[in-house]
Amino acid sequence: MSQFWQPLIHELTPYTPGEQPDDWQSIKAKLNTNENPYPASPKALAAIREATNEDLKRYPDSDSKNLCQAAAKAYNLQPENVFVGNGSDEVLAHIFQGLFSKKAPILFPDISYSFYPVYANLYQLATNPIPLTEDFSIKTADYPAVNGGIIFPNPNAPTGKYLPLPEIEKLLKVNTDSVVVIDEAYIDFGGESATSLINTYPQLVVTQTLSKSRSLAGLRVGFAFAQPEIIEGLNRVKNSFNSYPIDRLAQAGGAAALQDHAYFTQTTQKVIASREALCNELQRLDFEIIPSKTNFVMAKPTKCEAKWLFEQLKTKGILVRYFNQQRISDYLRISIGTEDENQWLIDEIKALLTAK
Ligand SMILES: *Cc1c(COP(=O)(O)O)cnc(C)c1O
Repeated sequence: MSQFWQPLIHELTPYTPGEQPDDWQSIKAKLNTNENPYPASPKALAAIREATNEDLKRYPDSDSKNLCQAAAKAYNLQPENVFVGNGSDEVLAHIFQGLFSKKAPILFPDISYSFYPVYANLYQLATNPIPLTEDFSIKTADYPAVNGGIIFPNPNAPTGKYLPLPEIEKLLKVNTDSVVVIDEAYIDFGGESATSLINTYPQLVVTQTLSKSRSLAGLRVGFAFAQPEIIEGLNRVKNSFNSYPIDRLAQAGGAAALQDHAYFTQTTQKVIASREALCNELQRLDFEIIPSKTNFVMAKPTKCEAKWLFEQLKTKGILVRYFNQQRISDYLRISIGTEDENQWLIDEIKALLTAK
């Protein structure tokens, strides 16, 4: 604390990211932050290497035109429908600042991405968390008509549960006076994107990221897709804050990753297959599973405490995520690893439950 802190700073409760280890030597499997277990497309890595040249002395393209074009092509949209930011977290920050209204509370599920309340706090927006149903579903009929904006991940995080597209369209039909933001960080692991609805609904904003399905969490590239007027608004915010959020390496690597469709399909399919196999194994060990369409699974051990298992696994070099939070404190969130990593996890759980 310092006398120079302004009042707002005192009130901030920053987001706590999942642990990134300093000592990688002791880590056997890192299954705690939903990174992709497979490396990025070799073509993306080659493009980054190629961009590592004398041009780095120059500023990057402030509009990330090539990257926007590649994203538009990948999602069947126009470049005018694309906004790009330094990770989708930054895109979300600009959305909170520039598109949400202060006239009524912002709505999101009670169990959801924990960055939303942090941004609301930073930008002084009131919030109204809407409880998920008993089985962790989002019920759009529960969202009050008067609101300053609605945001939720689809599939939701950290539950992993997917809301079918017709349900989102139902919400868009009634909620026309404020923006509806669908955070599709995990959509590529089995869901259907709402980007197909963008041309129909001017209040719809879809965000995506290269961090999960494209294995580029370290590069920091995220998108918003919407009608051109919304995109123009986000660019106004961005250009009033940082005109060069996407560096040359990220622009080159991001575009190449989006163009390598074959590699993307292959790796996402592998993650999906591993998820189904891991869920079966966990169920055999009497875990209760929330059905997931993401690259992670929320699993509730019934033979021991979740927190105990989290701590024990950590001592064995296996990191998973535990949320000390109402309704989900009996669960572990486990990111899908490689086949080997998933097997190590299962073997360790078996050993721990036997030794207990
Ligand atoms: C990972 C994640 C993000 C942020 O992704 P970045 O692009 O790495 O900033 C946004 N929303 C949800 C729900 C996420 O899980």
